Amino acid sequence: MELQVKLNNDSNHDTIKEDPRCKLCNSTKIINSIRFNKIQLIKCLGCGIVFQSTPFNEIIYNQSYYFNNNVIYGYTNYFQKKDDLIDTFSIILEEVKKHTKNIKNVLDIGCAFGYFMYLAKQQFPHVYGIDISSFATKMVSKKYGFSTITADICSPEVLYSSRNIKYDLVTMFDVIEHLSNPISAIKNIYDQLTEGGILVIKTPDISGLQSKIFYKFWYHYKPNEHLFYFSPVSITNLLLKANFEIIKISPASIFVSLNCIIDLMLRAINLHTNFKLIISKFRKYKIFLLIMKFLLPVYNSLKNIKIRFFIPNGEFVVIAQKKANTHSENYYQSY
Ligand SMILES: [Zn+2]
Repeated sequence: MELQVKLNNDSNHDTIKEDPRCKLCNSTKIINSIRFNKIQLIKCLGCGIVFQSTPFNEIIYNQSYYFNNNVIYGYTNYFQKKDDLIDTFSIILEEVKKHTKNIKNVLDIGCAFGYFMYLAKQQFPHVYGIDISSFATKMVSKKYGFSTITADICSPEVLYSSRNIKYDLVTMFDVIEHLSNPISAIKNIYDQLTEGGILVIKTPDISGLQSKIFYKFWYHYKPNEHLFYFSPVSITNLLLKANFEIIKISPASIFVSLNCIIDLMLRAINLHTNFKLIISKFRKYKIFLLIMKFLLPVYNSLKNIKIRFFIPNGEFVVIAQKKANTHSENYYQSY
């Protein structure tokens, strides 16, 4: 899948004709932002959110989402991210623990293969997971035997009637940008938290330096996969209106292995598809074959070097707390 990117200048303040309202705050002050082929991103001047105007080609979170070579959504091999993810989550969890005590029940939303659950289970008595992907939840059950539910957190049916549990800590790592309806998701989370319970969200920062540097080639732009692009300002707007208190917002850094960085770069240039074309075009030249003979072992040995970095990745982490004795109903009823 090759992305052809056209950029509409924000300063034009074009009026959106098809759906003239913000999906989060209902404001009509919305403008065109970046465009990827037929997919238009919209920016709301009211709450600051950027969102995809019309989702289509819905992403299916099946096996090929976690293991694929040919497309730019999902992952090449989700297994290879395990150690990096667990160590990244560990640093975030240490920060969370500074702000709350007595965590008993933990829910990880978008639990994927259960790597955060695995970490949390070592520290807290009850850890649960939810994921829209049945492939992922089956993987968690098979590998760890943890309790998971296959469901969409945006759906009202997700109120875990089978569990009847209130959670002290709810986490959403790299999830909210994928959701079709973040307001419903936040409402459902609010209802499931204990009073004073903690919500942790990690998501790309569209107002951050990296999005400005990489611009339309920012690697968090994933049409159809990422539907909402938050900033610290827009997520604050969302959470405050839902009766959460913001405890801390900070830029995210992640552990990332060299082989994952190489993989990301190769996917960015769509190498797996282009490689066959290059080979067929240049194989008649001996010098090309010689260069390939040299490059392939270099590539393979680089992939096998176990080096990793701890780097800012253009995301942010927000830690929020459900306010006591309040309810979010009024906010949601206004939409
Ligand atoms: Zn808005």
